[in-house]
Amino acid sequence: MRLEKIPDVFVRASAVIEEIEKHGFEAYFVGGSVRDTLLGKKSHDVDIATSAYPEEIKQIFKRTVDVGIDHGTVLVLYEEEQYEITTFRTESTYQDYRRPDTVTFVRSLEEDLKRRDFTINALAMDKEGTIIDLFHGLDDLNHGVIRAVGDPKERFHEDALRMMRGLRFASELDFEIETKTLEAIDLYHSLLSKISVERIAIEFIKLLLGKNRCKGLLPFIETACYQSCPGLKDRLDGLTAFSKLPNQLIEEEQQGWALLLKELRIPVSETRDFLKEWKLSNHLMHDVSELLYGLEVRLTGAWKAEDLFRLGLEKALSVEKMLSFYQHEVNLELTEKKYSALPITERKQLQISGNDLLAAFDKKPGKWLGILINELEAAVINGEVVNNKPDLILYSEKFVKKGE
Ligand code: ATP
Ligand code: MG
Repeated sequence: MRLEKIPDVFVRASAVIEEIEKHGFEAYFVGGSVRDTLLGKKSHDVDIATSAYPEEIKQIFKRTVDVGIDHGTVLVLYEEEQYEITTFRTESTYQDYRRPDTVTFVRSLEEDLKRRDFTINALAMDKEGTIIDLFHGLDDLNHGVIRAVGDPKERFHEDALRMMRGLRFASELDFEIETKTLEAIDLYHSLLSKISVERIAIEFIKLLLGKNRCKGLLPFIETACYQSCPGLKDRLDGLTAFSKLPNQLIEEEQQGWALLLKELRIPVSETRDFLKEWKLSNHLMHDVSELLYGLEVRLTGAWKAEDLFRLGLEKALSVEKMLSFYQHEVNLELTEKKYSALPITERKQLQISGNDLLAAFDKKPGKWLGILINELEAAVINGEVVNNKPDLILYSEKFVKKGE
């Protein structure tokens, strides 16, 4: 099979392949970009596999960077673009069910494609757009099937992460996992515990954000893969509830986690502990806690000024959108309107400073000052006092005794 119209990224990159071929080696496009192009999806970068060894690639191109030389990958800078060029390789002596400890460079494309995880990921394409399909990947692509290359049991035993990858591709591409592949996941699910949390998390997040989430999530639950994921071991009920949310697209990672935590019935106060186990960044953990907080607020009532102030517009809108998972009316306009009606949106807009208050009450600084500023902020937000200095001082008299 030959692609009729080769996308521009490949056309630009074909000059690199030509250069490699001129030196007597083979080179092909491989991996996700070939798969995605055949599915009619845009791919931004292309991966190239070659029979040339890394040292040989470095001799062919002037500007290169050793990005993963042990695994055979050299980054080539070629006319304004960068290309990852990886030597054909086989992987051997997998220990601990993860990543091979030795990779062996080979000159054969077939050997290289054989070590890849799924048939749809084992397609190669030459510079003219001809597809090299040694494992019936095109059939599987056309029928929407995730099938391991070779014996699935062997392949998952070699590298257990592939099981999570299979589940995420099912979700991302809206594909079915082929029976023997699924049976092997069922059999070997517990090997996932050998894989680092970070690598599992990458795949799990992609699964959450996939276009048919349930296609990945249901087998993730049924094969018990969830039992090797942080914090999920004893949470079958919550996960099942999560899988029953409307199967619509989750727009962003933060929303994915917030919806999951909500269904797992993890309170806002325990969000960090749960997400820490997944090794997420502090920033993300904070965002998820806020979204979960907002979701709980909105599922039980209307937005209050204080909550909108706390969340900010972006998070409030994100919460509002999540209501659609709960057959709840989503009103983005009203959320924006209420947000714009806030007297202030940041503390620094408060028309009084700590120094003003110290002077007004002739008092020494102390804990009282922070408490007072919090009170003033809340009062301004809730419209109990106008945001100007004289009014704020007058209002403060309720809370402060002079000169103590
Ligand atoms: P994405 O579009 O999400 O990047 P991808 O298929 O390109 O998906 P990558 O992780 O970028 O995924 O890997 C590139 C290619 O390398 C895959 O298409 C596959 O051929 C191969 N590959 C990646 N991870 C594995 C693995 N654990 N086992 C075997 N082959 C793998
Ligand atoms: Mg990729």
